[in-house]
Amino acid sequence: MAVSAFPMDASSDSTPSGILLSWFYDHRRTLPWREERTPYSTWISEAMLQQTRVPTVLNYYPRFLHRFPDPASLAEAPEDEVLKLWEGLGYYSRARNLMRGAKYICEHFHGELPSEPDLLLEIPGIGPYMAGAIASLAFDKPAPAVDGNCIRIYCRLHALPLIPAEGSTYKEIYSRVLADIPEDAPGDFNEALMDLGSLICTPKSPKCETCPLNDQCSAFLLGKQEDFPLKKEKKATPIEEHTILKIFTGDKILVRKRPSTGLLAGLYELIDLPGNLTHAEVQTWLLENFPALASQCELKSGSAPAASDTTKGFPLDESAPDIRPLGKSRHVFSHLRWEMIGYEIHLNAADKNTQKKLIANASELGEIVSPKEYQALAFASALRAYR
Ligand code: SF4
Repeated sequence: MAVSAFPMDASSDSTPSGILLSWFYDHRRTLPWREERTPYSTWISEAMLQQTRVPTVLNYYPRFLHRFPDPASLAEAPEDEVLKLWEGLGYYSRARNLMRGAKYICEHFHGELPSEPDLLLEIPGIGPYMAGAIASLAFDKPAPAVDGNCIRIYCRLHALPLIPAEGSTYKEIYSRVLADIPEDAPGDFNEALMDLGSLICTPKSPKCETCPLNDQCSAFLLGKQEDFPLKKEKKATPIEEHTILKIFTGDKILVRKRPSTGLLAGLYELIDLPGNLTHAEVQTWLLENFPALASQCELKSGSAPAASDTTKGFPLDESAPDIRPLGKSRHVFSHLRWEMIGYEIHLNAADKNTQKKLIANASELGEIVSPKEYQALAFASALRAYR
């Protein structure tokens, strides 16, 4: 079930697979998920490593596995707790898929991951790459695990003019890996490709001089390693502008939970308004959404300031909300860029009655939480600058 405890003797094998394995046994990375491997730990580590770099995963993997040591504990966990442990890793759909997958494993496979790729593919969130990785790494099945690293290496080795994201590319590389994968060390072979892709055959500036396969690599021999695989023409990344409001009533903070589907689903956020609003526009929004503020201004100055005045930049009187700029920030998703501007707002009323009304206004916009509760919430890492 586990990968080879001792390196196979690949040193005398002069095929590309043999050379690659021989290099791997000398240079393999020491990583916690390779030390005490189980099918479950392989699944968790592979889910974390999709879209996230190894140094980041090293901080999350032990904590996650300690708290959720098996599918049953993950299946029973409250979503908020799982998302909190995932906070900062990004791509939260992976965490939700792990929960759905864990429930499926408990309901259909008696709480144990199956060994066959076809059965692994039934589990929500497990796609062909992960099924191949789990089957080969944890069960020694000769199943290819074709990801971007693998496609890049094979396209370069064979000078294949293929575009990675195209379905036909996946099929072509899958069949080539299937032909190469050694029956007696399939997991090691897949891991060797992962390590070669991370350490040597990198997307930019591959270290061909030290690559164990440089004698066999068509792209290297042509001097065109960075021309393979072919690059798809990049579309401009769409940009969204947001204004993030961190609103305090006393020492409590106004938060909202995002919808259960879509971008950053189920995570907490601060008040998020479309567009990059100016200070005056934020004042206007506050007066519209916190009617108690307007009555407070009226009480003090005799008449509430008109929203149109504030947008023209007329100052509110001293009872106006305390708005402090938090600066600009940017977050880049895989398909989208957020350009944000933030403000910290303190709603402090002159009297208890108005303060109560402000809290009632705030409650219509979200939840008001204490600083301790705030710290415990799973927040979108896109908002890190304003957290
Ligand atoms: S020789 Fe260079 S391009 Fe070819 S597989 Fe090795 S690192 Fe990649």
